Amino acid sequence: MAEDKEHRYDPAAIEPKWQQRWAADPKLYAADPIDSGKPKYYVLEMLPYPSGQLHMGHVRNYAIGDALARHMWMRGYNVLHPMGWDAFGLPAENAALKNNTPPRQWTLSNIAGMKRQFGRLGMGFDWATEVTTCLPEYYRWNQWFFLRMYERGLVYRKKSKVNWCPECATVLANEQVIDGRCWRHEDTLVEQRDLEQWFFRITAYAQELLDGLDKLDGWPEKVRTMQRNWIGRSEGTEVDFGVGNRPEKIRVFTTRVDTIFGATSVQLAPEHALVTALAAGDSGLRLQVAQLLEEQKKAREAGDVGAIEKHGVPTGHFAINPYSGESIPIWVANYVLSDYGTGAIMSVPGHDERDFEFAVKYGISVRRVIAPANLAAEEQELPFSSEDGVLINSGEYSGLSCHEAQKKLQEAAARGAFGEATVTFRLKDWGVSRQRYWGTPIPMIHCERDGIVPVPVDQLPVLLPDHVEITQQGGSPLARVPEFVNVTCPKCGGPARRETDTMDTFVDSSWYFYRYTDAKNSNAPFDPAIAQHWFPIDQYIGGVEHAILHLIYSRFWTRMMRDLGLIKNNEPATRQFSQGMVIKDGAKMSKSKGNVVSPDDMVARYGADATRAYALFAAPPDRDLDWQEDGVAGVSRFLGRVYRLVMKYSPVARAAKGTAPEPPAGLSLKLLRKLHQTIAKITLDFEGRWHFNTDVAAIMELVNEIQAVDAQLAASEVPAPVIRELLITIVLLLAPFAPYLAAELWEELGGEGGAVLRAPWPPSNPDLTREDELEIPVQINGKLVAVIRVPAGSAAGVMEASALADEKIQSRLAGKTLAKVIVVPGKTVNLVVK
Ligand SMILES: [Zn+2]
Ligand SMILES: [Zn+2]
Repeated sequence: MAEDKEHRYDPAAIEPKWQQRWAADPKLYAADPIDSGKPKYYVLEMLPYPSGQLHMGHVRNYAIGDALARHMWMRGYNVLHPMGWDAFGLPAENAALKNNTPPRQWTLSNIAGMKRQFGRLGMGFDWATEVTTCLPEYYRWNQWFFLRMYERGLVYRKKSKVNWCPECATVLANEQVIDGRCWRHEDTLVEQRDLEQWFFRITAYAQELLDGLDKLDGWPEKVRTMQRNWIGRSEGTEVDFGVGNRPEKIRVFTTRVDTIFGATSVQLAPEHALVTALAAGDSGLRLQVAQLLEEQKKAREAGDVGAIEKHGVPTGHFAINPYSGESIPIWVANYVLSDYGTGAIMSVPGHDERDFEFAVKYGISVRRVIAPANLAAEEQELPFSSEDGVLINSGEYSGLSCHEAQKKLQEAAARGAFGEATVTFRLKDWGVSRQRYWGTPIPMIHCERDGIVPVPVDQLPVLLPDHVEITQQGGSPLARVPEFVNVTCPKCGGPARRETDTMDTFVDSSWYFYRYTDAKNSNAPFDPAIAQHWFPIDQYIGGVEHAILHLIYSRFWTRMMRDLGLIKNNEPATRQFSQGMVIKDGAKMSKSKGNVVSPDDMVARYGADATRAYALFAAPPDRDLDWQEDGVAGVSRFLGRVYRLVMKYSPVARAAKGTAPEPPAGLSLKLLRKLHQTIAKITLDFEGRWHFNTDVAAIMELVNEIQAVDAQLAASEVPAPVIRELLITIVLLLAPFAPYLAAELWEELGGEGGAVLRAPWPPSNPDLTREDELEIPVQINGKLVAVIRVPAGSAAGVMEASALADEKIQSRLAGKTLAKVIVVPGKTVNLVVK
């Protein structure tokens, strides 16, 4: 098509104009009341951290969600599509340190900037339900939930390990520990210290969180597997070993009690209580244990205790196997963790890889107690860790299969009161204490007389004070604010101290999506009736980096609220989707690599529509997207072609309004077939297939096919009502992907029914989506001889005639008698000859 000077596509003119109009119509993206009678659809993208700038990963995430929301609006659904800010967290404190700007001011001004970016990108969010987690109208409900959970025994306090920088004299977050050193003191090794901390008893829901995964078939298998592994259920047995000459018992956890007759030592964690007791009177042991503990701490800080070089020391004491009465040596080992299982294991080198390695290293004896099912015991190389075998050398249990033996041994332990069958989880309770300023204050008070006293509910919120000096030295900043710390005990009226820990920011993101349904409620976190209408979320979209913690915490919070009677759903979202990353030159975009592409630059150069459509077009949504500016330019050129095509023929299309179309034929039929096949494909994708990259490509193909016959269009060889249908439908199909251009062209074509967002999604006509021609196999006496092409919908007689006219068929039939013809319309032709 010749360049159409008159109709130049100028997103810099079109987009701000529509942005203004949309801003003046706040109801445009608002959900209808819950009694609207329309089916509901809740589409949610994970809320961003207000760092100050949207990045391309955000653009991709929100382009997917926004396309889906727009499509569902056009399908006539009552759509909830909200947005908010995960606004507490460490970066605000770091920025305060660096620029001397208070965290609140820094955060709120970042939010304002990012909201402007969202507006310019044309994202269809209902800002009336905006949630900002650092504001008291939100975080007061975190405190309220904390108190409700405390009442139910779901909140408790215990000593736990934290990262401690001796230079800063403060606790560090995990992300502030770099290679075991403080992020601000490169020469200072971070220590592990025990501090009293608050915990949520998420493990009370471990089994339910695991079982629920089986029913979440709208979640990616990858995400469900990650969660299963994180919860890490294992069935096993706890057994008490006696200790020679001492009153203590050693409780051992094992998943393979069937091998207990093969235990040749017991291994204790360096911090096990018995080790402390034994070392108290043995300075040599004390030194060696200290060394093991040091090694373990280093491995923990490096994040991989599994890869530790295994060391151990014998204590000189013996443990007594309760089943056999045998005495076996007690060792202390650096790979046994005090906070996993019971902090003690039995070592069975004949049937465990790790125990074998340890036994060989230290000359501990190896014993065979399991024989494989179909091999002589001696022929089986050790260690043999399969459960497919029978017990040998195991007293009265010899001859039993591993599984039978496990049951019998557990029963014996229960009878003898020296053990029991147990289920353990890798999932740990959720430590929510942070020694930070910029978070939700924990609503608890410490009184010398009464101990821990909850803040009475009518005194919520416990406000986070402003004007707090952030130094990141010398402990929690709140502890240095006397007017915050010093309070009157609600119980005895005496002087008391307020808790100075704040909550983990994962608390904020565990339930924010419920607040969206009733964001202005000042009497409750939300109205249960409204939440029940909207929940569960129909589609939740976000990065795979949140597949474990955020989604597990959210699933826990949902169950906790269900048990408080606030909601009825068990899971927060029916469907979940994790989009891929945006990379450039093969690496994740980052400032340090200098490969960051700014959304603002792209929008300024090519427009928001081209930037968004490219983010959907350049890769399947679940894969990584390698950003190519050429590609954005290409999408922009394509949108320009659509613009000129519609502008050129819009007078024809408008004039054809109300004209009844004739049955299409020839070129019109060909174009309409292509159009309806495109509608069918895109509709299917929005229904869950999500090949949005090929959808944009399909619209390009359709437009190419129309432009290829521009001369015939210009010569009126295609009837005006067909041109009208083509143009209107292209605009509707583009609306979820390029909302600005669609709005502009929709108006150009007459803008029937107002906003394109409320125009009905075009239905595809099945008569037109069918392929024009079908390939039909022709068989002679059951053998495939030829494949013929017939028009779709051909009658049996036409198929038979075409088959008999085929050259190959004719040559095979020569000189034979055709006895019978069997035609399956649309499928096959079978010829029977004699
Ligand atoms: Zn430090
Ligand atoms: Zn008191």
